[in-house]
Amino acid sequence: MSKIAVVAVGGNSLIKDAKHQSVEDQQLALRETSRYLADMIAEGWDVAIGHGNGPQVGFILRRSEIANKVEGMHEIPLDVCGADSQGAIGYEFQQALQNELYHRGIKKNVATIITQMLVDQKDPAFQNPSKPIGGFMDQTEGKRRQTEMGWTVVEDAGRGWRRVVPSPLPKEIVELDTVKTLVNKGIVVITVGGGGIPVVDVGEGEYRGTAAVIDKDFASSLLARELKADLFLIATAVPQCALNYNKPDQKWLDNLTLAEAKKYLAEGHFHKGSMGPKIQAIIWYLEAGGKEGLITNPENIGRALRGETGTRVTR
Ligand code: ADP
Ligand code: MG
Repeated sequence: MSKIAVVAVGGNSLIKDAKHQSVEDQQLALRETSRYLADMIAEGWDVAIGHGNGPQVGFILRRSEIANKVEGMHEIPLDVCGADSQGAIGYEFQQALQNELYHRGIKKNVATIITQMLVDQKDPAFQNPSKPIGGFMDQTEGKRRQTEMGWTVVEDAGRGWRRVVPSPLPKEIVELDTVKTLVNKGIVVITVGGGGIPVVDVGEGEYRGTAAVIDKDFASSLLARELKADLFLIATAVPQCALNYNKPDQKWLDNLTLAEAKKYLAEGHFHKGSMGPKIQAIIWYLEAGGKEGLITNPENIGRALRGETGTRVTR
């Protein structure tokens, strides 16, 4: 019988390095990751894919800001930037995967679901916006945005002023039923892109987009829990996690128990903005009954599934 895997695809599957950021470069990078995902699919996995969108939303915002400055074009709100990025990345990923599956004679459909993620207006993150987004501004511009548009702006270490937004926890995948239906039909689904478009419940049965960002590993973890996935795979820039990462006594980790993962996370081995959320995402998945969390880089997915590399976390 088929097994379900949720794969959280990291930023390096779109942008490999600072010299390769164009749309064509991103498509090439996605094509490569699609080969490794197709290997998994060929082995019988039903796959739901989450992905990051940080740099891509940054590009969209920058275009929006420049077009506004130069031509007085209307700006694009952050939630819509998220939707734009889900659509574009979803399209590129869909095409890359479809082509790869077709060449292998695997008859599977691939679909992207533009995904909203419900967040709690009472989430403490809303009292403490911390994620910088968009370009730098001078103080006058920063103050104007603050009074006219209600932005929170902060001074960024002498480099200028910048907008910051909250990063609340994902609560509910709005399109979950649709995603479930498709995955259970064996369709490859691309969803919760960039952690999902954050929406809040404004009452009377209405959701509305809100200016925030959601951690894509947390969102993929929620997806893995909801789908009762057999595997939660996080594909990132490193083949394994390490203790004492980048230090002389660095030690790569093959296997971790849930208890060890919690202990090492609390001890600070997994850095806050990068590996920390991945380990936390796996902890939440396992605590909810998940079977297996696995962290590796795209090119090692096959080997990691065979137990030859990667960091495997189990209860
Ligand atoms: P992604 O786009 O996949 O979310 P991140 O940069 O957020 O990528 O997280 C992956 C990065 O985490 C790795 O490239 C690595 O530099 C960093 N990292 C931090 N702590 C560790 C650790 N303990 N072991 C391995 N990598 C770590
Ligand atoms: Mg990350």
